[in-house]
Amino acid sequence: MTNQTQQALVYQTDNSLQAHCIKGLLLQHGITAQLSGESLFGAIGELPANIQIEITVEHSEQARALEIIEKAMHSQQGQDWFCPQCGEKNAASFEVCWQCQTEKQENNND
Ligand SMILES: [Zn+2]
Repeated sequence: MTNQTQQALVYQTDNSLQAHCIKGLLLQHGITAQLSGESLFGAIGELPANIQIEITVEHSEQARALEIIEKAMHSQQGQDWFCPQCGEKNAASFEVCWQCQTEKQENNND
């Protein structure tokens, strides 16, 4: 009953959109992240402001997750991009749309 998987903190933000973005990013790398406070959210679109969100992963994947996040944060070379699916603006470092998880279209590189 107390046999929960040990979770390790990898990122903390009060920006729920960013939190979901990072969660999607990690998922792309096969890492399932959990957002604390996510259960407080109602339907997407009614995100309360000023809630500190903690992103956690399984303890064994913490190092990898941190690496992925750090790499994403530092690879801001590209331009912000607009999702072809929903039109939302996304930071260059993210591979999927934060809103609808549509993959970024690689038109600029290669
Ligand atoms: Zn989208």
